[in-house]
Amino acid sequence: MYIKKQRLLTPGPTPLYPPALHAMMASDMHHRTEDFRKVYRACLADLKEVMGTSNDVLMFAASGTGAMDATVSNLFSRGDKVVVCVAGKFGERWADIVKAYGLDANVITVPYGQAVQPEQVEAALKAEPGVKGVFVQASETSTGAAHNVEAMGRAVAKTDAIFVVDAITGLGTMPLDIDQWGLDVVIGGSQKAFMIPPGLAFMSVSPKAWKLGESGNLPHYYFNLKKEKKSGDAGESSWTPATSLILALGEALKYVKSIGMANLVKNAEMLAHATRLAAGKLGLELFSAASPGSSVTAITAPKGIDSGVIVKEFRSRFGSIIANGQGSMKGQIFRIAHLGYFDFADLFAMLAGLEIILNANGHTVQYGAGVAAAQEVYAQATSPVLK
Ligand SMILES: *Cc1c(COP(=O)(O)O)cnc(C)c1O
Repeated sequence: MYIKKQRLLTPGPTPLYPPALHAMMASDMHHRTEDFRKVYRACLADLKEVMGTSNDVLMFAASGTGAMDATVSNLFSRGDKVVVCVAGKFGERWADIVKAYGLDANVITVPYGQAVQPEQVEAALKAEPGVKGVFVQASETSTGAAHNVEAMGRAVAKTDAIFVVDAITGLGTMPLDIDQWGLDVVIGGSQKAFMIPPGLAFMSVSPKAWKLGESGNLPHYYFNLKKEKKSGDAGESSWTPATSLILALGEALKYVKSIGMANLVKNAEMLAHATRLAAGKLGLELFSAASPGSSVTAITAPKGIDSGVIVKEFRSRFGSIIANGQGSMKGQIFRIAHLGYFDFADLFAMLAGLEIILNANGHTVQYGAGVAAAQEVYAQATSPVLK
């Protein structure tokens, strides 16, 4: 029996930033006091700053899906024509939500592992000029693919439709110029690159999106964007907030600001780059080879090995929790996360563990081959954040 430290290495929830965890202990605080308003105001202002937008930013006590739901129920109307990009399980969630609210969805579906192309979105908008909204994932966490939201945004901006981006794993892992690219709604979640536990969702809302919302006729109550904006301006949330998480977010945002959002993105990009090289050295194939994102790298399990075995052995041998595939990808792929509080030491250890697990299960690799690829990337990196 040896020591095994539990390590949470999934693409949400992600590893927690310790000072943020410690801040949660101060949550015996009332939310309708100036002490709390100070924290809440700082969170909203810092979110706006790290998201790099002049749009309004709102926050909800919910997982990320809450803000996805709120977007549809607050901004759209029954029967609205919308375009939904589906490249994985989270794209399917968009399709489910808009259908649940009775929107008329043109669903553009690509096989798992691929990305919807901006030209497909453009063509859908040309074919149906009355489209009110386009929905996409910046980063499709279930497959590891990233979408070109810049090109899509510029195409949508030329129309009356609003562009709704689930950036729950896009924020902090890829550049997102919300204002310049026409990203009307951008959604984030606390348990991804923001390094704190699940339970907070946030979103930016552009003037174009607010305008569409004026004619929205769908029922909603708990998630009320207008009410939440008014409350936020007064330093409060409409309902009782998740006080402990907001205290945590305040600390995490201070940290993100201290390293800089661009460097947080760079960090994820470097780890993803190193992981892709390492996978190649280990004779493994990337699941989303054509448009891999930096939030998570999905790797196809070698022939004859169920990815669940790799996941299980990470847990049993090294105490590490990594992600299997979701839905029909379960057993086929495993996913190595890079978003938020991940560093090169995490990656070196993960790759070393992976090499042991692969060898033990009949996929022969040379010990150190994958780790060496990541070490080379680290050694050649010039970014001061990484060193
Ligand atoms: C995690 C995630 C979500 C939100 O899921 P919740 O369980 O509601 O937090 C949505 N979209 C993507 C791309 C995600 O990675």
